Amino acid sequence: MPSLTKKEKITLEETIQTDITTLKDQILSLEEKTKPIAPDCSLGRLTRLEAMGEQDVANKVLDEARVRLTRLNNALQRIDKPMFGICIECDEDIGFGRMSVRPESVRCVACANNL
Ligand SMILES: [Zn+2]
Repeated sequence: MPSLTKKEKITLEETIQTDITTLKDQILSLEEKTKPIAPDCSLGRLTRLEAMGEQDVANKVLDEARVRLTRLNNALQRIDKPMFGICIECDEDIGFGRMSVRPESVRCVACANNL
């Protein structure tokens, strides 16, 4: 018996598409924020340090967003394959609940917590 019904897969596919669109927008605006600060800009020293601190944070968020985007694209490739929605560790169903929150999941909650 397949772990996810056809209807559930269609729902998940829509979720993935929406998440990808959102992430792409997020990545674009983060890329704006992480552009190098020009050394001759008129910011004071403290403001400059603050701006660099904010850039560090934005860079981390950007990295995470890019990783998630890759995972979502991979999930989209897998969605019609039998292993989609199946845990890669224990072969159990990941479950529609978890998949609808994180459709890129490749592990069930129990295995993900054991990492
Ligand atoms: Zn598992």
